[in-house]
Formats: sequence, structure tokens, C-alpha cells
Amino acid sequence: MGKYKRIREEAYKANMELKRQGLVISTFGNVSAADVKGRFFSIKPSGVPYEKLSPSKMVVVSFDNKILEGNLRPSSDTETHAVIYSNFKGIAGITHTHSPYAVAWAQAKKSIPVLGTTHADYSSKSIPCTKPLSKNSIRGKYETETGVQIVKHFKKHGLNYNEIQMVLVACHGPFTWGSSAGKSVMNNLILEKIAEMAYMTLKINPECKPVSKELINKHYTRKHGKKAYYGQ
Ligand SMILES: [Zn+2]
Repeated sequence: MGKYKRIREEAYKANMELKRQGLVISTFGNVSAADVKGRFFSIKPSGVPYEKLSPSKMVVVSFDNKILEGNLRPSSDTETHAVIYSNFKGIAGITHTHSPYAVAWAQAKKSIPVLGTTHADYSSKSIPCTKPLSKNSIRGKYETETGVQIVKHFKKHGLNYNEIQMVLVACHGPFTWGSSAGKSVMNNLILEKIAEMAYMTLKINPECKPVSKELINKHYTRKHGKKAYYGQ
């Protein structure tokens, strides 16, 4: 039990934070926490209500999707997490929810353009939306294919997964990641807010265009660049 204790606790805390932030209803949504060196992660068990979760109920799975510890079946999205960890080297947490505004953009099959500085603070690019999965991918290993679709989209469009730590899977919803499980939850919350603001903006002015490169770069680099000066 000892080897996986820390990772199970981290995954448990992050899943409870997801619930606390109001990003999930019922049992929708899951967070995993990874040990990058050990190539394993801990994830929420499938269909267990958040009130009934505990660190000992969390399931430990390897990056190649083998259960290492746990008596419960892991989240049905586990294979998607495994594919993302195997390809996006170094990330240590993944969150998936069906938070409504992000889902709305995903269902509309639209990337979220950078319409203001709130978005630019976190990403200098649009929040990408993948193509819908093909019929064959859906019939086949659906959860694995969902991960593959995300990875392919980033490769095809030359996107950097360290810079854009979020994606919308078309017709489905958001997946976010980060350097810890907690950060991936925070990214899901930020994505939900950006999605909501973009939706409202385009409702007020459907012609609204993305902000200038200068404004995007100013905001992005003051938080993330080599010369970042935001915060203490
Ligand atoms: Zn889902």
C-alpha cells in the first residue's frame, strides 16, 4: 500500500476539489494524479459518488493502462488519461469534466478564440477543439481513441501541450492537464470561465474578433514569459 499512498491521496484531494469548485454534477468528471518517473497514476473509481470517495478507494493504473492497485473499477475515462500521460511527457495531472460552457463549445465543435486578456493570461492561442471521432474510432477502443484524437490534434497543428494545457474534445467536453492534479483542476475551472465569457461576448457582439497579437503577447508574457513580472 505504501508505494502508492501519496499519489492516491493527491488524486483524492484533487477529485474533491473538482466537486468543491462546482465543476461536476453527480459522478461526472474525474481527476488523475501521476507519478511521472514511476509511469503510473491514480484515478477516481468509476461511478462512485464524491461523498463516498476516500484515498483508499482511488485506483492506481500504469501509463500503459494496467491496474496496479485498487479493488474498484477505475473511471471509464482511464484509457484516455493513460494515452495523454504517455504522449504529453512530464505532465502530472489530468482533469475531465462536463462543465457546461466548455461542453457547449465542444458540442458546437468550435475552438475558443482569444477575445480578451482573461484568456490571454493563460494561453496566447485559441483553446483548441478536436475533430469529432470517426465512426470506427467510436466502435473500436473509444476511450483510447479519445486520447489519440487529442494527441493527434496537438501534433497536427503544432500546438505545445505545455503552453496550452486544455482542449475541447468535439461533441464531448474538456480535458485539462498540468504539473499536478490540483493544477489540472484549476485549468478546468479557468477554461470553464473563459468559455462562459467568450459565449457572453459573442452573444453581445457576434462580430467580435480576437484581440491583437500585441495585447495577447503582453498579457501572456507578463505571466509566463522569461521576463514574467506578474505576482510576487
Ligand atoms: Zn466525459
